[in-house]
Amino acid sequence: MADCIFCEIIAGRAPASIVYQDDTCLAFMDIHPLGRGHVLIVPLEHAVQLPELPDAQRTHLFRVAHHILDAQRALGWGKRGSHILLNDGPQANQMVPHIHVHIIPREKRDALPTLSRLFLHITGLMGRATARTSLDEQASALRQQLPEIIH
Ligand code: AMP
Ligand code: ZN
Repeated sequence: MADCIFCEIIAGRAPASIVYQDDTCLAFMDIHPLGRGHVLIVPLEHAVQLPELPDAQRTHLFRVAHHILDAQRALGWGKRGSHILLNDGPQANQMVPHIHVHIIPREKRDALPTLSRLFLHITGLMGRATARTSLDEQASALRQQLPEIIH
């Protein structure tokens, strides 16, 4: 869809650090991570909210999200906890109107120590994007784990 940043990423017209892709969904690093290894999983088909997606695609999206969580844990990211989050619609603070599941590993001293940081994130007031090289390294580390996890 025109003017959708996630559709631009899916089409290869906008940069992204890709973790996983199949014929239904794409996983890539969040550009403003709330924890090391913060990943977004999106359906390839543009849809704003979950009820617009066919049931099989919804199920698949969360299946892949679980695989990403396993890959993060295999790397030791989020060992003490992770957020698995989907803001489904503007009233739920959805900033990008294309369905996406967040998988956010938490660490003792990560980027989300306070509610104010979360507020800045969900209102889109967050500061600079994380360097692409760092996101690429994280994506590569996750990609290496996935063959062991996805069968
Ligand atoms: P939400 O508030 O659930 O809509 O979250 C949108 C997420 O998309 C935020 O965590 C942003 O940091 C992330 N985001 C926005 N643009 C990009 C982009 N070009 N590449 C990667 N992540 C993005
Ligand atoms: Zn889109």
